[in-house]
Amino acid sequence: MSQSEKRATALAQYPEDTREAAALLKQAVPLMVRHNIPPNPVHYALWYTYSKGQEPELNRRLDKAVKDFGSFPPESAAQLFRDYIIRDELEDARAGQQQAINLVDDMERDVSRSVKGSQNFQTSLGHCLEMLEDPINERLPEILSELQQSTQLMQDQQALFLFQLRTAQNEIKSLREKLERAQQAATLDSLTQVLNRNTFTRLLEQALNNSPRGVALVILDIDHFKQFNDQYGHPLGDRVLQHVGQVLRNSLPPHALAARYGGEEFCVILQECTDITSAHAFAEQLRLKIQKLRITARNTDKVLDTITASFGVALAETGDNLETLLTRADDALYQAKRNGRNQVQG
Ligand code: GH3
Ligand code: MG
Ligand code: MG
Repeated sequence: MSQSEKRATALAQYPEDTREAAALLKQAVPLMVRHNIPPNPVHYALWYTYSKGQEPELNRRLDKAVKDFGSFPPESAAQLFRDYIIRDELEDARAGQQQAINLVDDMERDVSRSVKGSQNFQTSLGHCLEMLEDPINERLPEILSELQQSTQLMQDQQALFLFQLRTAQNEIKSLREKLERAQQAATLDSLTQVLNRNTFTRLLEQALNNSPRGVALVILDIDHFKQFNDQYGHPLGDRVLQHVGQVLRNSLPPHALAARYGGEEFCVILQECTDITSAHAFAEQLRLKIQKLRITARNTDKVLDTITASFGVALAETGDNLETLLTRADDALYQAKRNGRNQVQG
């Protein structure tokens, strides 16, 4: 029920019209005069209600007050006015008051929580202060300063260590690169980037020792290379050797090794190759690839010449060693040369 609805209910206690109200007031005023009651609105309301007789309890209490005191005590008026005239409004006021109390309670709870928090903080601060004031900790600022200094020292040492570590890392990196270059130089032919003769012989011996069966050897020699050098010069001859080396490197099947045996002679060790026909076929592929090479003048597309090579093939047999296998392959190559070059024999 809203406040205005409550007020309407309170007024509803006095539905009298002007004439009826004036009649009731005419009864009330003589009573107030008789009992020497000051004519204020509170007293009017009480004695008006008395005259109306609608609150028998009020009438009893007014009669008793007048009888006991001979007059009407002002404090009784206030109490009776609250109890019988404006009790609904007071109910509202009480409810409002309760709301206010609840609100204040909530606020108090919140505030006390935050106070408790700040008290805890204050307590912690207090402990810190006590610690600082404690004679044992008189050296605390000094200790803190020492700590700060040693932390700085540690940081400086770490930075120095990091620098030394990076220097060492760079040195290791450059040493490793040098080692790799030395290893390559020891195993590869510097012009053609295939294995050099020493590595070739070592690995072929190793392959034959492990299992001679399944090893095939292809040996090739560039045809009329002396003539090529004479016609185009040694540097272009070198470029031809490089091209041939590249063809070999790009054509190797798994487990095969290519090497420069010397001059314009190259070898390929085929492993896991058990028949001469496939070794022959592989050599034939190489022959065609070399024949297709177009030798151009440096930095131009102008084709100067083509080259060919002759091939000798040999399949290792039980009891073969480096020398016997090389000799058979070389014999086949010699046969290819004799037969007109640019061909595979063996
Ligand atoms: P054949 O067809 O009979 O093999 O004739 P060829 O001229 O190739 O044979 P020969 O063995 O007489 O000549 C080989 C030439 O290879 C001699 C040399 O000038 C050339 N040669 C050897 N090594 C190199 C090299 O590293 N660079 C250059 N440019 N030429 C080389
Ligand atoms: Mg030769
Ligand atoms: Mg030759």
